[in-house]
Amino acid sequence: MDFSLTDDQRLIRDTVRQFMDAEVRPNIRARDREETFASAELRKLGDLGCCGMLIPESQGGAGADTISYVLMLEEVARVDAAMSVALSVTNSLATFAIAQYGTESQRHKYLSRLARGEILGAFCLTEPQAGSDAAAIATSATGHRNTYRLNGTKSWVTNGGEAGLYIVFAKTETPASARGVTAFLVEPSFPGFRVARYEDKMGLRTSRSAEITFSDCEVPEGSRLGEEGQGLKIALELLDGGRVGIAAQAVGIAQGALEASAAYAKQRRAFGKTIGDFQSIQWMLADMQTEIEGARALVQNAAWLRDESMRDKSRNKSRDQGARRIGPLASRAKLYAGEMVNRVVYKAGQIHGSLGYSRESDVERMYRDARVITIYEGTSEVQRVIIARDLLK
Ligand SMILES: Cc1cc2nc3c(=O)[nH]c(=O)nc-3n(C[C@H](O)[C@H](O)[C@H](O)COP(=O)(O)OP(=O)(O)OC[C@H]3O[C@@H](n4cnc5c(N)ncnc54)[C@H](O)[C@@H]3O)c2cc1C
Repeated sequence: MDFSLTDDQRLIRDTVRQFMDAEVRPNIRARDREETFASAELRKLGDLGCCGMLIPESQGGAGADTISYVLMLEEVARVDAAMSVALSVTNSLATFAIAQYGTESQRHKYLSRLARGEILGAFCLTEPQAGSDAAAIATSATGHRNTYRLNGTKSWVTNGGEAGLYIVFAKTETPASARGVTAFLVEPSFPGFRVARYEDKMGLRTSRSAEITFSDCEVPEGSRLGEEGQGLKIALELLDGGRVGIAAQAVGIAQGALEASAAYAKQRRAFGKTIGDFQSIQWMLADMQTEIEGARALVQNAAWLRDESMRDKSRNKSRDQGARRIGPLASRAKLYAGEMVNRVVYKAGQIHGSLGYSRESDVERMYRDARVITIYEGTSEVQRVIIARDLLK
């Protein structure tokens, strides 16, 4: 067993770290306050290959492995969690979706633009009345000559209003069955597409979370992703991969909070010493670092397994032949990392004293940003359901 990174993986990690420290860190507090979406910064990361990491070079992507991908997301989240969720959605839930399930013409039309970061992708599954219970979505898609008409409302769409392509899940059968869910590639210029409003969130203030309505939105038949009725399977498979990215985001935020806390502990003085001389502070830092390393190991293990399961899939290896499944391990990584980062940012705030409660500190923003990780791309409770179901089967 070799835990060391390859030269390529190290290069990707160091390049992204350098970019984030030099070009994003100096403005992050101001951008958070002004809620400015990081369009220019994301374009630059697109130029570095960070928007299409999981797709082959032959399709315009970086052709990187999933370990490189999670290293990239961790480095981005270490400085700016909102940028990391934009990248996670565009890579795992949009670009990869087209590479995996798209037709030749859909790949040709969208992949290289997505991979270069010219357009961002978005994933529209959640609705006001259906989050964890994805099969309960009500958005409908009715066939009409060579066009579908979509009607319904999608909520909490990350990159909503900024993206150039939306993967939209809608019911194509009249009976409300899970099998009736179908995926579509929708462009914001399609008639009937409308960004209705943006959520006013606790954290990730520079990320966009939009409510989008579809009113007789016309989608050509050629923009259906996969077959009719395949949508829920596509969504759940994409979320398995997506969760590894969100777990990496958690590790990145936690690492940023640890670094800020260790630096502050060496500088802040109380009772004639630096606070880092107090055992209470040392123990918090030691626990933070240990938990981060545990989560990172789970994330990188899940990333490695994702590549193995993709190889099994490309060899058409079946479950009976030992094909590996990423789902439960992705859930364990996301569950642990999501809960870990909330413990870490709590301690980071404690170490910073009142400064940790001030918008003058980075750890205050990290505290708000981390909260969502136990909620999106499947709550902690849903991850436990997936893990326990696998354990007891
Ligand atoms: C910032 C942000 C960005 C998001 N981005 C996107 C996006 O890009 N695309 C998208 O489609 N969605 C997105 N979401 C939506 C997100 O994925 C859902 O909010 C999430 O899946 C939870 O759904 P819900 O909010 O409806 O909660 P509910 O499903 O209503 O859950 C409420 C509570 O009940 C619990 N619960 C529900 N079912 C079970 C069960 N079976 N067993 C045990 N407990 C259960 C939950 O764990 C939770 O504690 C985003 C959300 C946020 C906050």
